[in-house]
Amino acid sequence: MRDFSADHSALALNTATLGHNVDGQGAGWSPEQVIDACADRGYGAIAFWRREIGSRAHKVGERTRAAGLEVCGLCRAPFLVGPLAPKPRSAVVDDFHASIDMAAELGAACLTICVGGVVAGSHSMRESLKLVAELVAEAAPRAAAGGLTLALEPLNPVYGGNRSCLVTTRDAVDMVEAIGHPAVTVAVDVYHVWWDLGLSEQLRRLGGHRIAGYHLCDWLADTTDVLLDRGMMGDGVADLKHIREAVEGAGYRGYCEVEIFSSNNWWKCDPNEVLDVCIERFKSVC
Ligand code: ZN
Repeated sequence: MRDFSADHSALALNTATLGHNVDGQGAGWSPEQVIDACADRGYGAIAFWRREIGSRAHKVGERTRAAGLEVCGLCRAPFLVGPLAPKPRSAVVDDFHASIDMAAELGAACLTICVGGVVAGSHSMRESLKLVAELVAEAAPRAAAGGLTLALEPLNPVYGGNRSCLVTTRDAVDMVEAIGHPAVTVAVDVYHVWWDLGLSEQLRRLGGHRIAGYHLCDWLADTTDVLLDRGMMGDGVADLKHIREAVEGAGYRGYCEVEIFSSNNWWKCDPNEVLDVCIERFKSVC
């Protein structure tokens, strides 16, 4: 396992950690401010959200690389199925393509996909997942042409109803194998997989080359909100070293991306402080 105790060049920031994924939250730094603050501190990469980028994808990508950082990802594709997906289905496909094109322009290594919840009236995870697989398979060549991968992120089962019918790493690996396209990968997020004793086995089945990212945070024992009360690494109950061992045991050597949604705590802090704490926790407990 890699030793990060004196080297945090593998650390990446997901800008959701500064509240940039939700309107009206966080300190509202521009992408340029985020890039400079991360570069000054020796972060290796940044994952942005579409709402920050707007029509400036190329410019923000170039600016990031000029500062010595990589763009490790873009969040995210629209929900593909379920109650939160755009309607009608043609709108899903249009927005999915637009998100892929933005990621390509940005020079992002991957586009994250939270697939959306169970299809209304279907009462079926299986049928919903089948529809997701069709949409992802159709979009894979477009992603490959843009030089990125589509990162399927299985979410914690608490989101099964509305945000993701893809709730286990096993199902994500099954989907990647069934689609069988090199541009279809999986993102592993501590918040969603920390409880899963089969994680290591499933990731070995997948292989490190098909792991697009590893997302860091913690699960607070007394969480007050399963969407917006994620914990800083070390403040919760997840076995962070063991989870990283599972990810790296599969061959993953990429970035470890801090992604903390925390409307009542970290989003209220000075972003400078948040970025410093992330580094300290990365070196000491991850
Ligand atoms: Zn994530």
